[in-house]
Amino acid sequence: LPPVLAIIGRPNVGKSTLINRILGKRVAVVQDTPGVTRDRVRYEASWNGRDFIVVDTGGWEVKVEGLDLSVAQQAEAAIEQADAVLFVVDATVGATATDEEVVKLLRASGKPVILAANKVDSQMQEADAAYLWALGLGEPYPVSALHGRASGDLLDRVMEVL
Ligand code: GDP
Ligand code: MG
Repeated sequence: LPPVLAIIGRPNVGKSTLINRILGKRVAVVQDTPGVTRDRVRYEASWNGRDFIVVDTGGWEVKVEGLDLSVAQQAEAAIEQADAVLFVVDATVGATATDEEVVKLLRASGKPVILAANKVDSQMQEADAAYLWALGLGEPYPVSALHGRASGDLLDRVMEVL
């Protein structure tokens, strides 16, 4: 069975856009407005001749009080089923309290984690990504899922741990 890569992160950080980039086609639904609940979705992918499964955790968008708990529960389930995790943070927003909660779950899981600093659309924005070292997950990989900037480098890195 191919290894499973879970893509986790808060709503609107660009998970589905990044998955479409990984797949090389528009399959995952990109939402301009968060708030739509969807289930986790699995896609067959390959990179440099290696097959793997990508899991989009789109079902995080639950609009209720206690959002953080719901996000954490979704993340926990996705992490459990994954061989490695691609944790996506919006570099233009920076790390939020929710991101920090997810980091705790990632640490506890012991699974390999790659930190993607998304929405780094230009070289000037790479400084935004550097702030994400503070999450304690190692090097943040700046990427623009929308424009494809550095997405190949990110995938090379992911395949090293998957
Ligand atoms: P998800 O909720 O994490 O799956 O996020 P989506 O993939 O649905 O994207 C949410 C919004 O962010 C959409 O409007 C995307 O076009 C936008 N977006 C995604 N990636 C990037 C990026 O690299 N740069 C910029 N500027 N916008 C992005
Ligand atoms: Mg999505």
